[in-house]
Amino acid sequence: MKPTLVLVGRPNVGKSTLFNRLTRTRDAIVADIPGLTRDRHYGAGRVGDKPYLVMDTGGFEPVIKEGILHAMAKQTIQAIDEADRVLFIVDGRQGLTAHDKIIAEQLRKSGQKILLVVNKTEGMATAVVTAEFFELGLGDPCAVSAMHGDNINELADLALADFPEVVEEFSSNHPKIAIVGRPNVGKSTLINTLLGEERVIAFDQPGTTRDSIYVDFTHKDKQYTLIDTAGLRRRGQVHETIEKFSAIKTLQAIEDANVVVLILDAKNEISDQDAHIAGFILEMGRALVIAVNKWDGLDEYQRATIKSDLSRKLAFLSFAQLHYISALHGTGIKKLLPSIDIAYAAAMADLPTPKLTRVLIAAVEKHPPPRGGMSRPKMRYAHQGGSNPPLIIIHGSMLNHVPETYRRYLENTFREIFKLWSTPLRVDFKIGH
Ligand code: GDP
Ligand code: GDP
Repeated sequence: MKPTLVLVGRPNVGKSTLFNRLTRTRDAIVADIPGLTRDRHYGAGRVGDKPYLVMDTGGFEPVIKEGILHAMAKQTIQAIDEADRVLFIVDGRQGLTAHDKIIAEQLRKSGQKILLVVNKTEGMATAVVTAEFFELGLGDPCAVSAMHGDNINELADLALADFPEVVEEFSSNHPKIAIVGRPNVGKSTLINTLLGEERVIAFDQPGTTRDSIYVDFTHKDKQYTLIDTAGLRRRGQVHETIEKFSAIKTLQAIEDANVVVLILDAKNEISDQDAHIAGFILEMGRALVIAVNKWDGLDEYQRATIKSDLSRKLAFLSFAQLHYISALHGTGIKKLLPSIDIAYAAAMADLPTPKLTRVLIAAVEKHPPPRGGMSRPKMRYAHQGGSNPPLIIIHGSMLNHVPETYRRYLENTFREIFKLWSTPLRVDFKIGH
């Protein structure tokens, strides 16, 4: 799994600007779901051969009460604990503040390795601007400008120095499924039902217990790998101090999967935490199957109410197949694997250039793109720019004039013809030349 960098700092030091810099490369392929406004707080990036995940704790900032700083938000503290590296951002223009010192104190207590980042240093002499921050006792500060992009690669290199280069795996040839959901929705129960037996988990291995667990199984001669994020909580039952839900491990599991099964609890309202996890899935562009669990013991009226409630609230996930199951009684489970197969096939689909181009040309003949200014966009060919999620890149001229509605028309056409169900899909235009 990829190392996760967590960005910490008081408001306005430039965390979200730095976040955008560090995740910039992925912007083009993240899921693009209309009607969903969300702040981006988690994303993926890479320098050289080192991929990483980033989490910005800016969204979890505590309310500042009457000039006295409230303790850090619980989620921020947990993210710091679980981070592979913490980046503590300070403002080089404003200089060292009392608030910075309080955060530094908390960070020192965490025992984590901290990288001190002095932001907004464009046009300033590094030695001068960083000098006063040495007193925080967090080592050599790294001077950057998130806004101008100065020194960002060096920063990422420093942050990732302890992590090995990742040799790109051969794309696995079977579904790798992350089973995710908030605590108590029934993840462990579902996994046990799927595997047909109670599994024994190693409890007492420090450092490994919080990691997700990978389990291989076969069904009808097909191979699957389950990423069990519920493994986390067993530790929680032993040591109550550890939170049951780990945002970082869930994010990492989703990133590492090619199909995500999101479990919701029919007996509880959709919560912020459910929405948060759905946000991770969309951000990572993963194929998705939704399982509404605990469907047992409900009467027809309750079921109808829940169904209509869900279809309204989950409209932004309507690309996903939805199943009503009982993990406890095993009902509805059989249909889950075929949906996973479909989602996997779509996420990892091979889309040959000639066939993509034929579909493109036919779509353009049926509905030519509207003129933009003096000239009409010309589409010449399409090729596949990536998978998991599929990315289709269209080449031609004047493509910067193509309206969003037309892009969506092409996206729907490709989705229909190549049967790219259950997965986010991205169609981009190659601009220039
Ligand atoms: P956050 O609250 O920590 O997430 O901070 P933001 O990323 O929202 O940035 C706060 C303000 O600082 C915004 O007005 C940014 O444009 C500005 N800012 C961020 N990075 C830089 C930088 O490198 N140089 C300068 N001069 N301003 C920056
Ligand atoms: P996890 O935290 O997501 O792994 O959830 P668990 O699998 O540990 O389940 C939490 C609780 O919900 C347990 O008491 C389960 O017995 C119960 N549960 C799980 N699946 C079902 C189901 O399909 N129906 C009902 N009624 N209860 C369930």
